[in-house]
Amino acid sequence: MKISHHFDDATLMAYSAGSLPQGMALLVACHLHWCEQCRERTRETDAVGGAMLDSLTPAMLTDDALNAVLACLDEPEQEFSLSKAEPLADDHLPAPLAQVLGKPIDDLPWKRIGYGVRQLDLELDGPGATRLLRISPGVSVPHHTHSGNELTLILQGSYSDEMGRFCRGDVADLDGEVSHQPIVDTDEDCICLIATDAPLKFSGLMGRLVQPFIGL
Ligand SMILES: [Zn+2]
Repeated sequence: MKISHHFDDATLMAYSAGSLPQGMALLVACHLHWCEQCRERTRETDAVGGAMLDSLTPAMLTDDALNAVLACLDEPEQEFSLSKAEPLADDHLPAPLAQVLGKPIDDLPWKRIGYGVRQLDLELDGPGATRLLRISPGVSVPHHTHSGNELTLILQGSYSDEMGRFCRGDVADLDGEVSHQPIVDTDEDCICLIATDAPLKFSGLMGRLVQPFIGL
């Protein structure tokens, strides 16, 4: 797999710090599963985080600090701690996503949300939305900007937009400044995993019309 689009440093730092919403953390874990380069960068951001902890001035602990730490041991582990996941040779989906979906991509309860576009909401907890989008060849998603950050990972097929061409394994790491209109540019469905930390804002009449139906 030849990957040409990767995450911003800020995204990997937030991933290392464990501060991304659940869906975004899942998406980062999926890309890391495929991308040696970002796995290497994550080892660096993990190390930076550790160094920052080391440089903090020690503070007095409260009397119940030990109990508070022990209580944390009972909390469920973060599900997508994936830097350790080794890539498999021929898996179609990245392992962290396959684990969440539990079935092949064609057996999922896709919902048609417009001409040539199907969606599946993963219904993860936390702010923002996490969904799979399956877009037919030649179809474009309405022009939109973001009020927050949007991460996209291409799982199959490809699309092009103002930022370039995005193929399987590539990520688009967009903030609120960017306005774009992706269009599927091969004769294969394009399937993406998309995670946001706030709702999208569509521009243009078509976008405003479809927004309530897509529920983005
Ligand atoms: Zn990467």
